[in-house]
Amino acid sequence: MDDTCWEVYGGYLKQRRDAGASLKKIGDEVGCTKQRIHKILVKHYGTADSEGTLSTSQLLKQLTCSSETLHNLRKEKVISWVSWGKWKPETIDIILELRKCKICGQQVGKNRRTYCSEACAVEGKKFKYWPEWRRKAQCERTRHWRG
Ligand SMILES: [Zn+2]
Repeated sequence: MDDTCWEVYGGYLKQRRDAGASLKKIGDEVGCTKQRIHKILVKHYGTADSEGTLSTSQLLKQLTCSSETLHNLRKEKVISWVSWGKWKPETIDIILELRKCKICGQQVGKNRRTYCSEACAVEGKKFKYWPEWRRKAQCERTRHWRG
């Protein structure tokens, strides 16, 4: 494994993590992917978990979702508190992943659910983005009509 990132930044990565930075944020700062940061932390510290926690407002500052979305996700047990109103920084990584637009990969804004924009929503309704089962059903139907 290429360890250049570790050689250059070393303990700084851990320091940022413990200060509550998400893997993505650290990755952006040092020019690595978040997966890479995760691997490095696990390799050198045994875990990528942070020892620090964030308050809800600190968390929301790094996200594009509303506090309502946050608390709904918590109710659905997708994310959880460490203790009342305290979050693990890795929660940011989970939410960033969840709130990615399925078409362009950008973050979905506060007032939207699945797609970041109307253009992406239109694109998302096209056949090629349909789930496998739906495509198959459509093929079956077409074959039936022709047959
Ligand atoms: Zn989009």
